[in-house]
Amino acid sequence: MNNQPKWAMLIDTTKCVGCHSCRVACQNQNGLDVKESFNRIEEQEFGVFPDFNRRFTPAQCQHCDNPPCIRVCPTGASYKRSDGIVSIDTNKCIGCKYCMVACPYNARVINIKEGYIHKCGFCLELIEDGQAPACVSTCPMGVRVFGDINDPESVISKMLISKKTHRLGESLDTKPSIYYITRK
Ligand code: SF4
Ligand code: SF4
Repeated sequence: MNNQPKWAMLIDTTKCVGCHSCRVACQNQNGLDVKESFNRIEEQEFGVFPDFNRRFTPAQCQHCDNPPCIRVCPTGASYKRSDGIVSIDTNKCIGCKYCMVACPYNARVINIKEGYIHKCGFCLELIEDGQAPACVSTCPMGVRVFGDINDPESVISKMLISKKTHRLGESLDTKPSIYYITRK
């Protein structure tokens, strides 16, 4: 087993009820303005009333293993950590927005007051304290599973073997660290 963790998330969209608790928890954890969000809940509607259904897909930074946002950053502010997390050194960020344009997942947000770019960082401060990211522990439906995919005994590693999953934008070769379970 590799001793270095490789953090990843599994999102089971079939359980998501679109309550937005994860988005609010993320805003609280990251001290965001009510209009700012690192965590979106995308909604799709199917059918015609009364045979009508709605599906919700939580979306955020995918912590790509082949991240286009890092390749375009002129100052090295955006970088990939050895544990898989894509981070931003806000002191080095000049707010050029190249990364916002390059990200195919619309995951980056500008901090209007300070002028730097920020996004989901997998709640590094909580992980380092042995806790799960705020969106994971807050979700009342157990939609999100977070863990170390270098540990074959972790819940997420076992779920990735036993469940059929996919990643967003597979054809883009960005190699996201977030896996999804969706309805057929
Ligand atoms: Fe970069 Fe966007 Fe991938 Fe996050 S989702 S690592 S911001 S390209
Ligand atoms: Fe979906 Fe859970 Fe987020 Fe609510 S907290 S929107 S159920 S992922």
